[in-house]
Amino acid sequence: MTQPVFFIGPRGCGKTTVGQALAQEQNWHFVDTDHWLQERAQMNVAGIVAKEGWEGFRARETQALQAVAAPSTVIATGGGMVLADVNRRFMRETGQVIYLRAPVSVLAARLEAFPQEGQRPALTAKPLGEEIRDVLAEREALYCEAAHYIVDAAQSLECIIAEVLAALSLSASDSLRLYS
Ligand code: ADP
Ligand code: MG
Repeated sequence: MTQPVFFIGPRGCGKTTVGQALAQEQNWHFVDTDHWLQERAQMNVAGIVAKEGWEGFRARETQALQAVAAPSTVIATGGGMVLADVNRRFMRETGQVIYLRAPVSVLAARLEAFPQEGQRPALTAKPLGEEIRDVLAEREALYCEAAHYIVDAAQSLECIIAEVLAALSLSASDSLRLYS
């Protein structure tokens, strides 16, 4: 495997957790675009949004994606990475894209248990479950469109990694899409 692997999906689906585990197991590099761009900006996401708006944050996100894409690298992306057509196209053309799909109930439970993992200002003033549902409704089609593979992210980490590995080795000779 030399192409980069991109994990996409909403906050809490496990992009960072699964990405780190995959990179460790395969001895690849791991980069989280949110961490990368926050270090570069010397500001956290909330700070960037306060200073430059979501538009400024999205521009930094695109820049981060293109900067970190490299062979034998696992990339965890921000939940909104798929919003820009240029990002979806870049990921699909440059690497293997995996959508970690989980139901709203699972995402809400994870974010409630570990709110600091979100690292984001709320996108709206709505209750968490409602916000997740609305954001997913808006982005689900984009996640599916961008993904080469869709993996059930409600499973245990071990099962997810096994599925991801199977998907990636299949992809060398076959463009089979997996639906969970
Ligand atoms: P993301 O990077 O997509 O926002 P994280 O990897 O930060 O998601 O995961 C969010 C939270 O959910 C973390 O506390 C993580 O430990 C937990 N988590 C991630 N994947 C799983 C899983 N397969 N099973 C149980 N908990 C998980
Ligand atoms: Mg993350």
